[in-house]
Amino acid sequence: MAVVPLQTKHTLRRITNNIPTSHRPSLLRLRFTCSVTTTTKSSPNRQNLVAVNPPLSNDTALRSTWCNRLWVSAGCTTVFVSFVKSIIGGFGSNLWLEPALAGFAGYILADLGSGVYHWATDNYGDGSTPLVGTHVQDSLDHHECPWTITERQFADNLHFLARGTTLMVLPLDLAFDDHVLHGFVSTFAFCVLFCQQFHVWAHGTKSKLPPLVVALQDTGLLVSRTRHLDHHQAPYNNNYCVVSGVWNKVLDGSKFFEALEMVVYFKLGVKPRSWTDPNSDH
Ligand SMILES: [Zn+2]
Ligand SMILES: [Zn+2]
Repeated sequence: MAVVPLQTKHTLRRITNNIPTSHRPSLLRLRFTCSVTTTTKSSPNRQNLVAVNPPLSNDTALRSTWCNRLWVSAGCTTVFVSFVKSIIGGFGSNLWLEPALAGFAGYILADLGSGVYHWATDNYGDGSTPLVGTHVQDSLDHHECPWTITERQFADNLHFLARGTTLMVLPLDLAFDDHVLHGFVSTFAFCVLFCQQFHVWAHGTKSKLPPLVVALQDTGLLVSRTRHLDHHQAPYNNNYCVVSGVWNKVLDGSKFFEALEMVVYFKLGVKPRSWTDPNSDH
């Protein structure tokens, strides 16, 4: 009789996607140790199967915390204040065209911003990157298991960008009253704050989405489901914009991101992830 210790290392990506980022380093080292007792008989006795770190429940990781809800509330409040300042300024001056155009510019540029940010977090950095490490890890996990984004609760999904929105818009709310500026800021910040929700809807099933959302997707006012699906298929380096997606054609057609990747590579020597492991991680 001989006791043969076996160890199997599992990355368990589908499970880790549902675990809070703070718990993942230890989980990634999760090992199941199996001590298999063999005998001279044909069928061995399997004994002492030990899970050193038992699997964690993955339900709670997708739920919003009160901290998440607080940040989303703060983000919405700062955006709302900016919007109200724009409206009040419009009534006061009777000038509506400028803030309306500024708002439209905010909507268009937010789509471009979402694409650049999405491209950057998909391709560079990791979970330890200062400021955006959490989001980089979320992006990587999203590409491992795209469908889980639809299972995350609202504030859990939006809180990261809500923090950024709050910290950017609050000072502008306090410092400026210009209604044209706030026309731009409120629309831009609204789209940034909610772009992850637009992204969730892009992963949704048409029959289960609210009819208004489907209508907005079909008219191109929100990023379409089919275009975003292309982002999750080879060659994995297009359709990064997730507000309206209006910039995707321009950026992909001009190979803007590919040119940017070359600049980053030649200046900094850093390869984007889309060059190195397109078939495994994206
Ligand atoms: Zn992506
Ligand atoms: Zn996606």
